[in-house]
Amino acid sequence: MNTKTSGVYDILIIGGGPAGLSAGIYSSRARMKTLLLERAGFGGQILTADVIENFPGFPEGINGASLAELMHEQAERFGLEFRDSEAKGLTLKNDDKDHFEVKLEGGENLSAFSLIIATGANWNKLGVPGEEELAGRGVSYCATCDGPLFKNKDIVVVGGGDTALEDAIFLTRFAKRVKLVHRRDRLRATKILQEKAFAAKKIEFVYNAIVTQINGDKKVSGVKTKDVNTGEEKALSCAGVFIFVGISPNSRLFKDILKTDEKGYIITDEDMKTSVNGIFACGDVRKKALRQVVTATGEGALAAVNAQAYIERLKGTAYPA
Ligand code: NAP
Repeated sequence: MNTKTSGVYDILIIGGGPAGLSAGIYSSRARMKTLLLERAGFGGQILTADVIENFPGFPEGINGASLAELMHEQAERFGLEFRDSEAKGLTLKNDDKDHFEVKLEGGENLSAFSLIIATGANWNKLGVPGEEELAGRGVSYCATCDGPLFKNKDIVVVGGGDTALEDAIFLTRFAKRVKLVHRRDRLRATKILQEKAFAAKKIEFVYNAIVTQINGDKKVSGVKTKDVNTGEEKALSCAGVFIFVGISPNSRLFKDILKTDEKGYIITDEDMKTSVNGIFACGDVRKKALRQVVTATGEGALAAVNAQAYIERLKGTAYPA
């Protein structure tokens, strides 16, 4: 990682997933003095994707971590600065200085004329007894990380969205059987993933059921399920429980400053402008209908181009209309 440049940045990007890296590529090419902050490794949620099949340009699909590394390399090539740190506070300074201040862990402050928030989202927990106690001991939120630990074992996957299906399919490489427990009578996931999951012989579907408890002493031994229509309870034995019940935005730091929806997703206009002039948001942290790598990267580009326009207006350097 490159490190520090002193003084005021033009653009500070918070978050190094596909949205943030794409914003970084565009702002560096525009020769905006830009720093990207990332707390946990470039790529965000795609780091756990074994294969991404729907990002254009990769007809055979591409591994999530490999795609993240390529985006990172591309951004670095254009001179984007990186910093391995977490934003801990944000001060609006739109008074005499026209810039924002972001406090880092450790207390250091960084200043920038414009902010691009690309902090993404995190996996939800199920919130049932046994989940926390057995996390890392059979309870997992990452199939690519933990799947190989369950060779020839029975696995339960919870959820019916894209992640649950993609990861259930991935887990069939290792598991003896995968039981996918979903709370409705049909799946939410995109149709091509449904087709693949239905064709996978090792996957069994348990519809209209929720997991109410995860059992085990030192490691997972099974789950208790409840039929949402009849209330009937069943015990399923398994060595692993993979939980994919959706995501929540990483917007806690901004929720008192920016307009968000009831779930905490940041509201922007189509130019990625938030409710505060000079602050932009893109990617999964933003309120929108489609959460994909391809939408995240497009939004990152829009955020960067509009941040550039904002800064040039502020400095009086905009190209005449
Ligand atoms: P998601 O689309 O929100 O699906 C979450 C699933 O978990 C839903 O089926 C939901 O049921 C279920 N669920 C939620 N809370 C639950 C609870 N308390 N108990 C039991 N089940 C519960 O989340 P995701 O699959 O993680 O995907 C997140 C976003 O990333 C989506 O926009 C998705 O399209 C995108 N994504 C795309 C790809 C791809 O394009 N290849 C891959 C992965 C993710 P209901 O259906 O009943 O609400």
